[in-house]
Amino acid sequence: MSQFSDVAFDGLYGATIMDHYRNPRHRDPLHSADMSVHEFNPFCGDEVTLRAQLDGKGRFARISSQSQGCSIIQASASMMAEGMVGRSAEELEELARLFRELMQGREMSKESQAKLSDLAALQVVRQYPVRIKCALLPWTALEEGLDELRRSRGN
Ligand code: ZN
Repeated sequence: MSQFSDVAFDGLYGATIMDHYRNPRHRDPLHSADMSVHEFNPFCGDEVTLRAQLDGKGRFARISSQSQGCSIIQASASMMAEGMVGRSAEELEELARLFRELMQGREMSKESQAKLSDLAALQVVRQYPVRIKCALLPWTALEEGLDELRRSRGN
């Protein structure tokens, strides 16, 4: 299980990613969920199942983010789940947009960086352009889930 040997990340960002890869957060299953999405990338075998429960105020209260595959998707899925807790659907739409901008290497304001918080560590994945897809797969699941949520609320 030393799938991390295919990439080498140094420094603080690398340490954050390694920590999430080795100790993924929010992996416990959720048996009832307001949002449930599965994404699979046939090219590298990465897979993620994202489920979430909202509280009465429309905030994401409980998250289950289960991923399989390379180190990067596992770290990204764990870090995303942590970033989802307590946020609203609208805030998460913005967070997903900011994360895509980060992966595209766009210039970011201090305010945007603050919203991304620890997720900014994943910018080192840009050193391995073919792996950007791995980092984005959980976010694709989130965006799909948010779309479905909006449709089910009828707006
Ligand atoms: Zn991958």
